[in-house]
Amino acid sequence: MYTQSHMKDAYTKKLWDIIVVGGGPAGMMAAATAAAKGASVLLLEKNQTLGKKLRITGGGRCNVTNNKTNSREMLAKYKGSGKFLHSTFSQHSVADTVTWFNERGVELKEENEGRLFPVTDSAETVYETLLTELKQTGVTVLGGAVVTAVKKIDSHFLTTTRTEQFRAKKCILATGGTSRPETGSTGDGFTFAKTLDHTIHAHNVALVPVETQERWVKRVSGVSLSDVKLTVTVDGKKQFTQSGKVLFTHTGLSGPTILNISKQISELLETGTVGLHIKLISEPDEGSIREKLTELFHAESNKKVCNVLNQLVPTTLAKVVLRLANIDGGTPCHSVRVEEKKRLSSLLFALPLTITSLLGADKAVISSGGVPLTEINPKTMESKKVPGLFLIGDMLDIDRPSGGYSLQLCWTTGFVAGSHAAV
Ligand SMILES: Cc1cc2nc3c(=O)[nH]c(=O)nc-3n(C[C@H](O)[C@H](O)[C@H](O)COP(=O)(O)OP(=O)(O)OC[C@H]3O[C@@H](n4cnc5c(N)ncnc54)[C@H](O)[C@@H]3O)c2cc1C
Repeated sequence: MYTQSHMKDAYTKKLWDIIVVGGGPAGMMAAATAAAKGASVLLLEKNQTLGKKLRITGGGRCNVTNNKTNSREMLAKYKGSGKFLHSTFSQHSVADTVTWFNERGVELKEENEGRLFPVTDSAETVYETLLTELKQTGVTVLGGAVVTAVKKIDSHFLTTTRTEQFRAKKCILATGGTSRPETGSTGDGFTFAKTLDHTIHAHNVALVPVETQERWVKRVSGVSLSDVKLTVTVDGKKQFTQSGKVLFTHTGLSGPTILNISKQISELLETGTVGLHIKLISEPDEGSIREKLTELFHAESNKKVCNVLNQLVPTTLAKVVLRLANIDGGTPCHSVRVEEKKRLSSLLFALPLTITSLLGADKAVISSGGVPLTEINPKTMESKKVPGLFLIGDMLDIDRPSGGYSLQLCWTTGFVAGSHAAV
C-alpha cells in the first residue's frame, strides 16, 4: 500500500483535500475516516512503515480501549479534560470504538479493570485492520516521508518533507508526543504547531517506570505482584496509598499501578526522599502476618524456611526477603527465632524501597504536555488559531492513566478530526 517513488511527482502537483502528518493510531484513524467520506487524503509518515508504537502497545497485545460504557465514568479518567472531551466522545465513544473494530472482524476481550484487548492477543491484529481500512478507503500513504515544515499559505497548507512539497486544503497533525522516540515520536509536530502560532505546554514523560536505589530488584526482575498495596512516603511521611499490579524491572518498578502514580512521584521527588512500601501479603497488620508465619512454620517445621516462604510470595522474591531479614534460607522453620520472625513479618508488611528517579522518554508510555485544549474546538478538533488545521492523539495536552485510555483518545480524536476535515 506504500507509494512508489515515481508516483511522488504526481502527488506534489496535486492539491489534496487533506494531508495527515504522522501514521500512528490517531493519524491512521483520521485519514481512513476522512477518505471514507470522500476526501482525497495523503498520509505522510517518517518511518518506512506505519504504527511503530501501536505495534508495541500493551506488551505487544494492544490494550485497545477500556470498557467504560458509562461516559461520565470514562471522561472522569481524563481528569480536567473530561469536560472538553464530552462533545468529542459523543461523536465517537468507547461503544463506537468497539463496534468499529467488531465490524472489521476484530473481537475484543475484557481483562482487569475493564482493559479491552483483541482476542488474538496481538497488536498486529489492530495494526493490520487499520492498514486494510486505509487501503479500502483509498488513502495514499507515503512512508519514509520526514515532514520538516508545515505552513499555511493563503488558504492552503504547504507540507515540506526532506525531498518534496505537498499542498492540501486542510492538514491534520498527528505526530504523537515524545515518549519512545525510537518509534518516530520525536515531538516534531510541536515545532510545526508552534510555528503555526500554537502554544505548547512543556512536555515531559508521563506513565513511566521508576528507578530504585535498591539494586536487589534486578534479582527479581520480571516478577509481577497483582493487587498489592503501595504506600508512598516523603522523608518518611505518608503521602498516599494505591493498590494494584506491580512489576519488578532490572532497575526498579513498573506495571500499571506504578505508571499511573509516576507523575505524582515525579512531583514528590522535587520535595524530598521518596519511599515506597509494598505490602506483600493481604493480612491486615504486622501482628496478623506474624501469626500466619507462626502457624505456617509450625505446620512445616522441618522444611527449610525458603521452601515455605515461597507459599506466600514468589520464590525469587522470598529469597530476597530472607536476605534482607538476614535469615539463612536453609534454616529449618522450627529454628527461626522470634526476632527473625519479627523482621520477616515487618518486611512482608511493608517491603521498603527508595525511588531515585523516573526513567526517561525512551521508557515512557506517553509524554505529558502538548497543545492546550483551550486552543482546540472540541466538536471538531480543529485549531481555533489556524482554520483548516486539526490536532489529535498524543499531541494534545490531556492527562490520563494507563488502561487503554490513550488509544481511545486516538480513536475518538482521529475519528472526529477526520469526519470534520472531510466536510
Ligand atoms: C510501550 C508502550 C505501550 C503502550 N501501550 C498502550 C496500550 O496498551 N494502550 C493504550 O491506550 N496506550 C498505550 N500506549 C500509548 C499509545 O501508544 C499512544 O498514546 C499512541 O500511540 C499515540 O498515538 P498517536 O497517533 O497520537 O502518536 P504515535 O503513535 O506516536 O504516532 C505518531 C506518528 O507520527 C510520525 N511522525 C512523527 N514526526 C513525524 C514527521 N516529522 N514526519 C512524518 N511523520 C512523523 C511517527 O513516526 C509516528 O508514526 C503505549 C505506549 C508505549 C510507548
